[in-house]
Amino acid sequence: MPTTDLGTSPLIGFDLDMTLIDSRPGIKAVYDELSARTGVAIDSDLVVSRLGPPVEVELGHWFAASDVPAMADLYRALYPDLAIERVRPLPGAAVAFEAVRARGGRLAVITAKNTADAARHLDHLGLRADEVRGRAWRSGKADALSELGAVAYVGDHVHDMEAAQLAGVPGLAVSTGPCTPAELAAAGASRVVGSLEELPAVLDAVWPPRAVA
Ligand SMILES: [Mg+2]
Repeated sequence: MPTTDLGTSPLIGFDLDMTLIDSRPGIKAVYDELSARTGVAIDSDLVVSRLGPPVEVELGHWFAASDVPAMADLYRALYPDLAIERVRPLPGAAVAFEAVRARGGRLAVITAKNTADAARHLDHLGLRADEVRGRAWRSGKADALSELGAVAYVGDHVHDMEAAQLAGVPGLAVSTGPCTPAELAAAGASRVVGSLEELPAVLDAVWPPRAVA
């Protein structure tokens, strides 16, 4: 049986929110609780219609800039108990992970969400990644992709496609998030699919050729 070389086997990066998981019910619950505690009206349906940027960016739409750091701390304190149980994987998440493993590859989840909560979601859903890098967005995601030597990045947001381009790797887009297929293609996606269930076929197009013995 072939063994996987964990040092050199190809690594695929994945975004988390709206790529691997439908985090909307969990995030909505946290914003509703923030609203109840602070008395600030927050349209949590609007919030979950535009997931992708860091929580501080979203909180800046509802709170004064000087209050955002404290609200972000409160958000993260509330998140594990309110969000983890409410969140399910998107169709094909397990299939996509298995497809990478079956090709002898490794997986990294690179997300704007903090690392601890990202890992909690993955553990809860039985999705095993080799690396989890949190608090990464746009160029931060590109830095993580380069540092890990990723060969592609899978994501749902135009910023994910921009990160892949910055890192010089193919961006594989899944249109399960807030961005349309046309927007993802315009942002530089190498391929756009409607669901992670379609990812295995796309992986073959980006997989590095095997060395000839
Ligand atoms: Mg996302």
